[in-house]
Amino acid sequence: MAIIITDECINCGACEPECPNTAIYEGADDWRYKDGTSLSGSVVLTNGKAVDADEPQEPISDEFYYIVPDKCTECKGFHDEPQCAAVCPVDCCVPDEDHVETEDELLAKQSFMHPDG
Ligand code: SF4
Ligand code: SF4
Repeated sequence: MAIIITDECINCGACEPECPNTAIYEGADDWRYKDGTSLSGSVVLTNGKAVDADEPQEPISDEFYYIVPDKCTECKGFHDEPQCAAVCPVDCCVPDEDHVETEDELLAKQSFMHPDG
């Protein structure tokens, strides 16, 4: 499953540079599928969703740092544990029960975003 940032976030910014998928953004910032990935133009994600990787997307939170579920792989394919949770000083990066995925699905997502490793 993806990781989600709760409203206990103190906006310290420590997690953002640690994410290997560039799935973490500062509150109120737009996000893109292409940021920090190999995706560009029209693509169909491994979950079947068709998206424009270049298009700026609306922020998921205007108040706190947030994680894009479609880009988070729980760090699978890069690290043994979620790096955001490992560095967060207030432990507010927690499993997102609304975005449950298997390890195979997470690894497929990681390979899709980073075909060159
Ligand atoms: S779990 Fe890993 S991939 Fe997901 S948001 Fe945190 S650092 Fe990024
Ligand atoms: S490390 Fe934790 S407190 Fe700091 S911005 Fe990230 S989620 Fe928020």
